[in-house]
Amino acid sequence: PLPVLAVVGRPNVGKSTLVNRILGRREAVVEDRPGVTRDRVSYEGEWAGRRFKLVDTGGWEQDVLGMEATVAAQAEFAVEAADAVVLVVDAQVGATDTDEAVVRMLRKAGKPVVLCANKVDGPNGEADATYLWALGLGEPHPVSALHGRGTGDLLDVVLEAL
Ligand code: GDP
Ligand code: MG
Repeated sequence: PLPVLAVVGRPNVGKSTLVNRILGRREAVVEDRPGVTRDRVSYEGEWAGRRFKLVDTGGWEQDVLGMEATVAAQAEFAVEAADAVVLVVDAQVGATDTDEAVVRMLRKAGKPVVLCANKVDGPNGEADATYLWALGLGEPHPVSALHGRGTGDLLDVVLEAL
């Protein structure tokens, strides 16, 4: 079976945009409105000649009820089933309480995590990414999922973790 990579993070950080960027086509649904990806959705990706299962998840949130709780639980299932995780954070916003809660959830799961500092659209954004060292997950990898900046370097690191 192919190794499994789960893409997780709070709503609206650009998880689905990153998944589309990795796939090289628009399959995952991207929306300005948070919480569009409700279930985990599986795709097949490839980088540097290696194939892997790529799982897009809905936005993870803490202490939520109803639909949001179901979405968060689905994201946790995806993490359980994954060999490695990409945690996507919005570098323009910085680390929020919810991002920190995601990190605690991931620590409990014990899977290797690669930190994606997304929405670094230009060189001026690089500084934003450095603040994300504070999450305690090691080096934040600056990426613009929207424009493709940095995604190759991110995938090189991901393949080492898979
Ligand atoms: P998700 O909820 O985490 O899956 O986030 P989406 O992929 O649906 O993206 C949410 C919003 O962020 C959309 O408006 C995207 O166009 C935008 N977005 C995603 N990646 C980037 C990026 O690298 N730069 C910028 N500026 N916007 C982005
Ligand atoms: Mg999404």
